[in-house]
Amino acid sequence: MTAPTTPGPAPRSRPHHPRTVGLDLGGRTALVTGAAGGIGRACALRLAAAGAVVRAVDRDAEGLEALAADSPGLAGAVEPQVLDLTDLDAAEAAAAGADILVNNAGLQLVRPIEEFPPDVFHTVLTVMLEAPFRLIRGALPHMYAQEWGRIVNISSVHGLRASAFKSAYVAAKHGLEGLSKTAALEGAPHGVTSVCVNPGYVRTPLVERQIVDQAAAHSVAEERVLADVLLKDSAIKRLVEPEEVAEAVLYLCSPQASFITGTSLAIDGGWTAH
Ligand code: NAD
Repeated sequence: MTAPTTPGPAPRSRPHHPRTVGLDLGGRTALVTGAAGGIGRACALRLAAAGAVVRAVDRDAEGLEALAADSPGLAGAVEPQVLDLTDLDAAEAAAAGADILVNNAGLQLVRPIEEFPPDVFHTVLTVMLEAPFRLIRGALPHMYAQEWGRIVNISSVHGLRASAFKSAYVAAKHGLEGLSKTAALEGAPHGVTSVCVNPGYVRTPLVERQIVDQAAAHSVAEERVLADVLLKDSAIKRLVEPEEVAEAVLYLCSPQASFITGTSLAIDGGWTAH
């Protein structure tokens, strides 16, 4: 399924990320939320490189501009769309006509439940659970009409496991798992698949911000957070790169993945093997 894109052995310091070859999304329109940064950006670029026209949705206009600036020369195209997903009606409308939907946008706050601000809990659930529901709802009529569609929900190890101090995030991701399975059951007779992807800690701005928060929550020095907190349960002791997640997402969006539905793909370095 994969082939090296550069000759020679991978450098020891930074892992080599071979690209999946032969997957063609030409003629497909994909919508990726949270496309201005981290995993969403990597997914948008990878799907466009495979030939898709990518509607890149984010509230971060500057990040979308930077993404668009990096997209010329790809087989497909990136079309930036500034949108705050807490506007649920606009989110649902934005998904109309998409062949592929990648629900990725997310946010995190690390705080004990008794100190967790209720308004932030509400926002996390809105962006990470209710918006995906509305986006799926907006995308399904077109997918059903053409008897083909792909929904990939970027969940997390925290869709499968809980961690202290992440009540909203864990609740939203567990909810997303249920939404994804339900969409899989309803979509199956219409050629629509729905899956979750469950990364461990990915090298993105969200994690970089979390290192500071976790240091405060666990009363440890920031430099100890990676080894002692974030990678404690990962058998492979490194962060996963956004591009590695994007390769899995690309495969799940491809025609080749037509029988993979209602399931969750952990990309967690062995975390959930415990
Ligand atoms: P990130 O912070 O780098 O990117 C998230 C993007 O979502 C940002 O561009 C942000 O602007 C956008 N966004 C947030 N709220 C929004 C809103 N209301 N409307 C529109 N856009 C909004 O984060 P990331 O690490 O790339 O995370 C992406 C997804 O992957 C999230 O769902 C996250 O839960 C999941 N995830 C991340 C990790 C990790 O370690 N980074 C691990 C597992 C799962």
